[in-house]
Amino acid sequence: MAVPKKKTSKSVRNMRRSHHALSVKAHGECSNCGEQKRPHHVCDSCGHYDGRQVFAPGAEAKASEE
Ligand SMILES: [Zn+2]
Repeated sequence: MAVPKKKTSKSVRNMRRSHHALSVKAHGECSNCGEQKRPHHVCDSCGHYDGRQVFAPGAEAKASEE
């Protein structure tokens, strides 16, 4: 295994971590239930997308059991 020859300084360590910040994910309100949802994704809480019902809420967990 490769072993570092020199200890990484606090400055270099912190410069590396300057890219680690998380960004806020894009989101919007569901047109059916008003819950927060990601754009171009089916609503997690009511199962609507593009004005139609894609899956019944709660049915997804039930389908995996069968
Ligand atoms: Zn919804």
